[in-house]
Amino acid sequence: MSVKKRSEALISDGTNVTPGNKQYDTVIGLEVHIELSTETKIFCGCSTKFGAMPNTQTCPVCTGMPGSLPVLNEKVAEYAVALGLATNSRINRRTIFDRKNYFYKDNQQNYQISQLYVPICEE
Ligand SMILES: [Zn+2]
Repeated sequence: MSVKKRSEALISDGTNVTPGNKQYDTVIGLEVHIELSTETKIFCGCSTKFGAMPNTQTCPVCTGMPGSLPVLNEKVAEYAVALGLATNSRINRRTIFDRKNYFYKDNQQNYQISQLYVPICEE
């Protein structure tokens, strides 16, 4: 949750002129995660089958080895477009994946692939 200052309600000297002296708007955003029914992971060909022995469904891509490059699972893109259509979202003809670099205790890659600026679908 974030709190956004209502700047249009202030005059140049900073005096609050909002009726009822309400100075802030509460803006609540939701981050929703879903599990897709794909046979392989989103950025590599490793299986998503449940119940395998630990560390047997990994490869250089999903373990973040230097020089490995992710490739988007085509089925994931299809599901994303289907979800966008079902929710009346805009489907972008061009999309961009972003790499957010930071340390996760349970993800030694030190990055997460995200769609921050040009997602497959939006709004
Ligand atoms: Zn993998």
